Amino acid sequence: MTTPLHDLTLAEASARLRDGSVSSEDLTEAALARIAATDETWHSFITVSADEARATARAIDAQRQSGAAAGVLAGIPIAVKDVIATAGIRTTAASKLLEDFVPPYDATVTTRLKNAGAVIIGKANCDEFAMGSSNENSAYGPTRNPWDPTRVPGGSSGGSATAIAGRQAYGSLGTDTGGSIRLPAAYCGVVGMKPTYGRVSRYGVIAYASSLDQVGPFGRTVEDCARMLGVIAGHDPRDSTSVDRPVPDYHAALGGDAAGLRIGVPKEYFIDGMQPAVEGAVRAALDTLGGLGATTSDVSLPHTSYAVACYYILATAEASSNLGRYDGIRYGARQAADDGLASLYRNTRALGFGPEVKRRIMLGTYALSAGYYDAYYLKAQKVRTLIRQDFDRVFADVDVLATPVAPTTAFRLAEKTSDPLAMYLVDVFTNPASLAGLPAIVVPCGRDEAGMPIGLQLIGPPFGEELVLRAAHAFEQATSWHRERPPEPAGAAA
Ligand code: GLN
Repeated sequence: MTTPLHDLTLAEASARLRDGSVSSEDLTEAALARIAATDETWHSFITVSADEARATARAIDAQRQSGAAAGVLAGIPIAVKDVIATAGIRTTAASKLLEDFVPPYDATVTTRLKNAGAVIIGKANCDEFAMGSSNENSAYGPTRNPWDPTRVPGGSSGGSATAIAGRQAYGSLGTDTGGSIRLPAAYCGVVGMKPTYGRVSRYGVIAYASSLDQVGPFGRTVEDCARMLGVIAGHDPRDSTSVDRPVPDYHAALGGDAAGLRIGVPKEYFIDGMQPAVEGAVRAALDTLGGLGATTSDVSLPHTSYAVACYYILATAEASSNLGRYDGIRYGARQAADDGLASLYRNTRALGFGPEVKRRIMLGTYALSAGYYDAYYLKAQKVRTLIRQDFDRVFADVDVLATPVAPTTAFRLAEKTSDPLAMYLVDVFTNPASLAGLPAIVVPCGRDEAGMPIGLQLIGPPFGEELVLRAAHAFEQATSWHRERPPEPAGAAA
């Protein structure tokens, strides 16, 4: 039986485009058909940009036929998280407040995708303003986990992960502030990568917590992620925090094996109460890497247990400041002023923001308020430095760190929605690398007793993308977890 087009990896689809056996139009129609057949169940997309995608596909096909040089992603359908600006395509941040917001410009990552020839197939569902760990905070309804639609896909980039696991797109972009690429990658059994802070431009990415936000790729394989990272990475004068440093050939990094890699295993990442299957799969992954010639050693990151508290003070503080711009004047759906200007702001924000976003604005405003600033915000900044120093110390002795991504596999919808603290604690293994600004990749490494995917997180030193890609690729090549696919939803053609 021949592989259905939607089942090709990004690299395979590119090869087929190059040898002329498929066109971008074929791939785009396959992706659109797949979305039409499955998205009622999974709800990975807030907006499907079918017309724009078809027009781009036709243009790329014509360009290829004329013999013009094709970009790395030429003709490939890609999904983009709905917090990333796409000129002319509605960008909602999964918020009611931005329901009708059509950006007049592209984010730099969108421009880079377009310059590489990508076909933007749609805007992926996510938690409102990227705030959440389950994708249940979307004003457009939750995304569901393709492996079990009664479970969450993880958040906040749940739609970007589901689109890959469910074969609705060949690659996707997400954002990761405290784990929002890595958690959904783990929960959905795909590869996801958060680059070093500063590696990828944030220009045109709807800001949540600016000192933490990074854009990164999702793919079915490490190679697919490496290709996308090479496209989106690089200096951007429009983002003052983007770093002016050459972009290596990430694809070339995949050639290396795991022999001689020094892998640190932080003991603080194996905690009481974690699901035994998760610990088991991660330990088995370490054995696999050991068998490939890597050395593993126990290390300690003593401030790990402060990371969640530190993150949720800093992220909410920054969010409360960033979200001040949504006042109903400059952006988004404006509500009527029934009692002067202040009521316009009040009504707009009261109706436009969902409950979690309001909670974050209130928490952050409190942490920044006079009298509490030193006790919360300033203290959290100091703790952030300690967490970073923990990593600096261990990276003197090891090349990468290997850890679980979360204490359990994907939980059920509504299981944690009434307990915000329980939801925040899901981030315990992803917040630390975010606070330290480090690159981290997630690769599938097993499944639990219910068949839900388990991910392995590999964290590198600053700008150590090549190291984590190399380690992840070596692991992936030695295992077959990335080849497993979720069951077809009822009614969808295989
Ligand atoms: N779950 C974390 C939060 O809600 C991370 C979100 C993210 O990385 N965007 O803040």
